Amino acid sequence: GEHRRTDVNALVEESLNLAYHGVRAEKPQFNMTLRRELDPDAGVADMFPQEITRVLLNLISNGFYAIAKRSGDNRLGVEPELSVSTRNRGEHVEIRIRDNGVGIPPEVKEKIFNPFFTTKPPGEGTGLGLSMSHDIIVKQHGGRIEVDTEPGAFTEFTILLPRKQCFA
Ligand code: ADP
Ligand code: MG
Repeated sequence: GEHRRTDVNALVEESLNLAYHGVRAEKPQFNMTLRRELDPDAGVADMFPQEITRVLLNLISNGFYAIAKRSGDNRLGVEPELSVSTRNRGEHVEIRIRDNGVGIPPEVKEKIFNPFFTTKPPGEGTGLGLSMSHDIIVKQHGGRIEVDTEPGAFTEFTILLPRKQCFA
């Protein structure tokens, strides 16, 4: 795809809608709150929008999966929720995707960015989503991607994207 200056909130909104409609079509009974906290000042960033969309779609679908997985457990009244937020960080724009699904144990967390690492049954995951996301964010865009998680409570991925790019 091409690179272009892209409105970050519009891109996030589009990815969220794509992912949500996908899951509603597959599992109409799947119930969850989608929260958006989009900074009106998030602004634009130079990027390959198709690549960033792939990253967001994978993070959102991982979040849905983690929520569905936890829904079988005792949630003790916790409402399933996925939230996506943006924030203006000056020279960078921040995108966060948070779910209150199963969370990630420490011994798994070490491996999640490795190619082909997955905890999903065959056919449900390739284990390539996060390794590709890391390449797209870090190598292609010079940004950062980090994870914060607590098993049985939440997982949150934070992306920092530089606004100004001189793509070679
Ligand atoms: P895949 O989704 O095909 O398994 P990914 O690279 O997207 O591959 O994710 C790798 C692994 O990281 C997942 O199998 C899962 O164990 C873990 N993981 C990623 N996102 C989450 C999340 N939001 N909650 C819990 N575990 C996660
Ligand atoms: Mg995935």
